[in-house]
Amino acid sequence: MNGRAFRPATLAEALTIRGGEAVRPVAGGTDLMVARRRHAPAPVRLDAPPLFIAHLSELRYVRLDGDRTAVGAATTLHDLADSPGIDPGLKKAIRWFASPAIRNVATIGGNICNASPAADLLPYLVAVDATLVLQDAGGAREVAVREFITGPGRHVLTDAELLTEVRFPARDPVPRFRFYRKVAPRRSNALSKLSLYVEARVEPNATIRELRMAAGAIAPTVVRFDEAERIVEAQSTAALGRLAGDAVQACMRAMNPIDDQRSTAAYRMSATCRLIRRVLEHDLPSWRCHDRSDHT
Ligand SMILES: Cc1cc2nc3c(=O)[nH]c(=O)nc-3n(C[C@H](O)[C@H](O)[C@H](O)COP(=O)(O)OP(=O)(O)OC[C@H]3O[C@@H](n4cnc5c(N)ncnc54)[C@H](O)[C@@H]3O)c2cc1C
Repeated sequence: MNGRAFRPATLAEALTIRGGEAVRPVAGGTDLMVARRRHAPAPVRLDAPPLFIAHLSELRYVRLDGDRTAVGAATTLHDLADSPGIDPGLKKAIRWFASPAIRNVATIGGNICNASPAADLLPYLVAVDATLVLQDAGGAREVAVREFITGPGRHVLTDAELLTEVRFPARDPVPRFRFYRKVAPRRSNALSKLSLYVEARVEPNATIRELRMAAGAIAPTVVRFDEAERIVEAQSTAALGRLAGDAVQACMRAMNPIDDQRSTAAYRMSATCRLIRRVLEHDLPSWRCHDRSDHT
C-alpha cells in the first residue's frame, strides 16, 4: 500500500476517494489498531491505505429531527453520552463501554461497522429499530441496522460506501423501563460474554406496551427476541410470573451461542435465560414510572 493515507477535507472528498480506490475507513481506530496489531508488530499495517474520517465535522453531530434522533457516524461515545437529546437507554449502554479514554475516540459508526456480535451499542440499536444511512458519491440509501449486519465482521456496506448517519427514536418524554446489563470478566475495558437490553412502556393500569428485547454475543449477530416480545406485549405486569417461562423458552429458540475464548455456549445460554427471567419476573413488575434512575 506504499505508505499512502488520505485525510479528506470534506465528506464529498472522502466519498470520491472511497469510490475511486480500495481504502480502509478509519474513525477512532480502536478496533482497527487492536485487530491489525494481533497480526503484525508496530507499525500497524492495514489491508488498504487508511481513509481518515473522524475529523470530518459533517460526520460528527447529534440532531433532533422530529421524533427521530440523527447521529453522525463519527460521533464519539463521549459526545453521545454528553448529549441531552440521547435516549437514556443508549446512555446506559455507553456507561458499560470500555473506559473514558476509549470512549473519547471510539465512534458509533465504528462500533456498528466492526459488526462484532459483542458490540455494546448494538443491542440498544437493534431493539429500537435504528436505521443507518449509507452513502457513496452518487447518493444515499437507508437500511435497518438488523439488515445491515449479516454475520461476525460482515455487513452490507459496499466498497464505495461510508456509513454516514445513525437514526433512532428521539428521547421519549414518557418514562420507560430501561435495562442494560453486560456480563464480562470485569466492569470496564472488557468485551461482553453477553449483553442484554430491554425496554418497555408500562401504562398506569400496569399494561406492558412496546416491549423490546435484544441481546449481544449469544449468536453470530445481535438477536432481537421478537417472539418473546409478542408473548408479553399488552399483558399486565401481574401476569409476568406466569408468562416469563414461555418468554424465556422463546428467547432460547432465538439464541445460537458459540464457545470462544471469552465464554462457553452453555454459560451464555444459561446466564442469558437467568437474566431475562429476572428482568421479567422482578425488575419490570417492580419498576414504577416515577423511578427517575431509569429516565436519566
Ligand atoms: C481497550 C478497548 C476496550 C474496548 N471496549 C469495548 C467495549 O466495552 N464495548 C464495545 O462494544 N467495544 C469495545 N471496544 C471496541 C471498540 O472501541 C468499539 O467497537 C468502537 O466503537 C469502534 O469505533 P472506532 O471509531 O474506533 O472504529 P474503527 O476502529 O475506526 O473502525 C472499526 C471498523 O469500522 C469501519 N468503519 C468505521 N467507521 C466507518 C464508517 N463511518 N463507514 C464505514 N466503515 C467504517 C472501519 O473500516 C473498521 O472496519 C474496545 C476496544 C479497545 C481497544
